[in-house]
Amino acid sequence: MDKVIYLDHAATTSVRQEVVQEMLPYFTEKYGNASSIYAIGRESKKAIEDAREKVAKALKCGPKEVFFTGSGTESDNWAIKGMAFANREKGNHIITTAVEHHAVLHTCQYLEKEGFEVTYLPVDEHGVISLEQLEKAITDKTILISVMFANNEIGTIQPIKEIGRIAREKGIYFHTDAVQAVGHVPIDVNEYNIDMLSLSAHKFHGPKGVGVLYVRKGIKIHTLLQGGAHERGKRAGTENIPGIVGAGKAIEMATKDIEDKVSKIQALRDRLITEVLEKIPYCRLNGHPTQRLPGNVNFSFEFIEGESLLLMLDMKGVAASSGSACTSGALDPSHVLLAIGLPHEIAHGSLRLTFGDDNTEQDVDYVMEVLPPIVERLREMSPLYEEVKRGVKHV
Ligand SMILES: *Cc1c(COP(=O)(O)O)cnc(C)c1O
Repeated sequence: MDKVIYLDHAATTSVRQEVVQEMLPYFTEKYGNASSIYAIGRESKKAIEDAREKVAKALKCGPKEVFFTGSGTESDNWAIKGMAFANREKGNHIITTAVEHHAVLHTCQYLEKEGFEVTYLPVDEHGVISLEQLEKAITDKTILISVMFANNEIGTIQPIKEIGRIAREKGIYFHTDAVQAVGHVPIDVNEYNIDMLSLSAHKFHGPKGVGVLYVRKGIKIHTLLQGGAHERGKRAGTENIPGIVGAGKAIEMATKDIEDKVSKIQALRDRLITEVLEKIPYCRLNGHPTQRLPGNVNFSFEFIEGESLLLMLDMKGVAASSGSACTSGALDPSHVLLAIGLPHEIAHGSLRLTFGDDNTEQDVDYVMEVLPPIVERLREMSPLYEEVKRGVKHV
């Protein structure tokens, strides 16, 4: 097999060649510590500030509102714990959703052990929260609403603007995990009334190990890492300069001509969805039919296991992902698929394919060539499917 068709852009992306080129000098010639006063130190400092400007431009905020971190996970932890610990006297209640990434969910669970109360809003069959339920959940103890911009598994985009409006009206801070959204859909933190936003460079063709937390001017949150005065005293630790430079270049590239990219990727997504639903029986699309990330496709196929499907696709050179956590040793299917109401056995048979702007129509052709026979072959091993085919059992 010569070529791998990479359809797992929600897991991570390749680093763009232009991004690598910008990063390289900062490993070798320009290795100065940004806190040093001599020339190569100052040069590093300037490189960080240039990258900060690029991030600010992409989010339509000020550079002083941008803080570099070590990952999207760190940004989520910092936003939520930092806000919780800074506002303990004001209240101890946090509202989030049942479909967040573990970086948010496990942080909230940790805070519950520390005496905070957390409301996990349910979602409808498409993965969307209800604004009425959000409003009803707010109490005079609520200090933070944290709702992800777009879901990493099923691609559903939440009504962020409306959530921001509600939070603003009630005087509650609003954090969004926008790791899947930045560089994939246009974002404006002011238009959406977002107070804090997490992003991660490796999800939009930047390097791994670089995140950003946007914190609106005037908002005070506690720091997670104590140490030196890096990031204006808010995030200690010698800066990952090559990584930060790469994140700046990557966000600039990802947000340039974003509308054109979105429509190209969305066309691939929609063609794959239409053809799979047409050609493969006992299959459903997970996530919202239209309010979803341009590159996200998530199906459930009855009578099969997602893991077997992934292995067989891998043998055909297709890199994809499944919605069940069996690969990591856990038996439970994804909390997201359960939250949208899928029964365990159907959640186990799910497949996530996520497109990037290097994918082509030929990639969709290839998936349509290999996927239907694989699904059929796996189903032939299922006794239940045999009964359904013979008409003994109905689904
Ligand atoms: C990938 C991801 C994260 C974690 O980001 P890392 O930089 O990999 O730690 C958090 N939230 C969402 C929605 C993600 O997709």
